[in-house]
Amino acid sequence: MDQDTIIINGNHLVFRSGETILETARRNHIDIPTLCHLKNAIPTHTCKICQVEVMGEPALVESCAAKAKQGMTILTDSPKVIEARKEVIKGLLASGYHNCAAREMDAKDWTSFQLTVLKNDGKEDLCPVWGDCELQDLAYRYQVKTRHTPSKECRYDTERANPFIIRDFSRCILCGRCVKACREIQVNNAIEFGYAGDDLKIIAKNDATLKDSDCVFCGECLQACPVGALVPDKAFRDHRFKDTRKIRTTCSFCGVGCQMDVFVQDNKIVKIDGADTDLPPNHASLCVKGRFGYEFVASPERLTRPLIKKDGKQVEASWEEALDLVAQKLSAIKSESGPDSIGVMTSARITNEDNYIAQKFTRAVLKTNNIDHCARL
Ligand code: SF4
Ligand code: SF4
Ligand code: SF4
Repeated sequence: MDQDTIIINGNHLVFRSGETILETARRNHIDIPTLCHLKNAIPTHTCKICQVEVMGEPALVESCAAKAKQGMTILTDSPKVIEARKEVIKGLLASGYHNCAAREMDAKDWTSFQLTVLKNDGKEDLCPVWGDCELQDLAYRYQVKTRHTPSKECRYDTERANPFIIRDFSRCILCGRCVKACREIQVNNAIEFGYAGDDLKIIAKNDATLKDSDCVFCGECLQACPVGALVPDKAFRDHRFKDTRKIRTTCSFCGVGCQMDVFVQDNKIVKIDGADTDLPPNHASLCVKGRFGYEFVASPERLTRPLIKKDGKQVEASWEEALDLVAQKLSAIKSESGPDSIGVMTSARITNEDNYIAQKFTRAVLKTNNIDHCARL
């Protein structure tokens, strides 16, 4: 056998120095489910869902933590592995208020149940991340049958005091991804594990609300949360993030150029995540503006018609009238005082394409380089 080779499900795969079994598998498009694992953060191997069978090992091995070693023979979906995963999923579903899977189901039941619940959209009890939840996906994938009915006792009060983020620890599976996202990715240290035993919980500053803590509302924890414990407040108001269309674009708020995935439903942006890629400059992270600052796009208060100041008042005008006036004024200023007497300021609230055209117009038509963008403030 070649150096640095492992066998996963019969495939001979070369691993890189220091790589875990999970990393080698994923690089080779072999799917191993995870819940607590967060890319670019230190593995904590708490959820155990990524366990695999390594030939010769007495117990299952957590693939997110175990380094690939020469000659290892691994099965990612053996009956023993699947049985263990089912137990983990059962335990997680039973640990909180996971009412979406509180019944015995087969594939047919699941579909009809889904439809029934979706019809009841808007009910207080309906989980806001229905259809967009990694635990629910796993319960479906492994057809976990449970008769566990979540009791009202396993409910926490939903924390709705914060801008942008709603916290509901009834659905927290204590995977720790949010803590890693806050501490290791954003380096904000606003949240941590607090209390112990049955009271174990994610807390912010002496168990305060996020708004009364060091949180800067970057939303990295929200993006990392695999279940409905952290949800955008919009999910409680208007939208279910099912059946959205994902569009990759560049954030226009500042000059960094973060890559983002915009989720669109009924021609409206309903959510923005850092692009699901390891590309620079942001490596999937976003700041508060990029992630949450999009309601202006569909705001009914947006100007849709030009306004011309007449007798001190802004008066609605036609596009022809407005464009003629601007052309006439710019031409007059240019011929009287030269092109460099004009400056153009563009905006983060228009598209990249509009910004591009504005700089083209400034340089090629007005003949000045006095063009800037609010992103450079
Ligand atoms: S968090 Fe996920 S598993 Fe729990 S109720 Fe919501 S959709 Fe279901
Ligand atoms: S929003 Fe950002 S700063 Fe606040 S807890 Fe989440 S990751 Fe930390
Ligand atoms: S809030 Fe979400 S990410 Fe944080 S520990 Fe709970 S389930 Fe995991």
